[in-house]
Amino acid sequence: MQVQNVAIIGAGQMGSGIAQVFAQSGYQTVVYDVVQPQLDRARAGTTRSLDKFVEKGKLTAAEREATLGRLLFTADLTQVASADLVIEAIVEKLESKQQTWRQIDEICKPEAIFATNTSSVPITQLAGVVSHPERFIGMHFMNPVPLMQLVEVIRGLLTRDDVHQTVMDTARALGKTPVTVNDAPGFISNRILMPMINEAVVCLQEGIANRDDIDTVMKLGMNHPMGPLTLADFIGLDTCLYIMEILHRDLGEDKYRPSPLLRKMVQAGLLGKKSGRGFYDYAAEKAPAVAR
Ligand code: NAD
Repeated sequence: MQVQNVAIIGAGQMGSGIAQVFAQSGYQTVVYDVVQPQLDRARAGTTRSLDKFVEKGKLTAAEREATLGRLLFTADLTQVASADLVIEAIVEKLESKQQTWRQIDEICKPEAIFATNTSSVPITQLAGVVSHPERFIGMHFMNPVPLMQLVEVIRGLLTRDDVHQTVMDTARALGKTPVTVNDAPGFISNRILMPMINEAVVCLQEGIANRDDIDTVMKLGMNHPMGPLTLADFIGLDTCLYIMEILHRDLGEDKYRPSPLLRKMVQAGLLGKKSGRGFYDYAAEKAPAVAR
């Protein structure tokens, strides 16, 4: 199947980034959200991001205009109906995702491919609410989407081979590198990343080293572009905690137990960069350096 029209559900940080890379690669792209200000923010953010590409000489002014011309931001779900590929990137809540997929399933054409950008909800479980689970798949983009190379492609139990192939080809057409993973808690990325972040928080909690030194060890010693505590702040501490809880629950091993400090920080509303403060205080101190 040839993908031409794409719909992105959710205009948050991931949805707007995914929409941008599709539009930049020549796809007609509809971005749907239930919150109009989110759509306005996504349009403004995309325009700023494209401007930066033009400033750096990576995009011409004409390509910027053409990209914006291929994007439609809308709060009208019926605009999604003609999409060949629908990618859902709404809030990481099972019930919200299930309800949204039921609505999409009702209005989209029967041959459309459905993909979710979830970080942790089982693909097979979400596929269970649509009429064609064999056309359902995980397409896990990394943040920030326009800059990050990887797409984790997750096959549900019933995902058909040709659907998987189309999604792999589409990811390559975006200039990304797709990697296939079978459906399991945290897939590969978060199965490995989140326990590392959690362990960094445990080291901080136990006073083994201070925040900056923990990040420096992983940056300079392991050549990571940023330390685990900085990365946790960028991802959002609530998201990190949520994923650790899923790993702990679904894999059933103590080694996945979320750090009590991580839990306390979320309870205190210290969610990282998005709330202004996490392990770092983004108002009071210079943001940590990130190598790209
Ligand atoms: P976000 O909070 O920035 O955006 C979520 C968006 O979904 C908001 O704009 C919200 O208005 C919208 N929304 C909520 N309910 C909706 C509905 N019923 N219909 C349409 N829109 C709805 O979140 P995000 O960080 O962009 O994450 C989105 C998804 O991507 C989640 O599943 C998350 O796990 C996954 N993800 C996040 C990251 C990351 O680093 N943030 C990385 C990979 C995957």
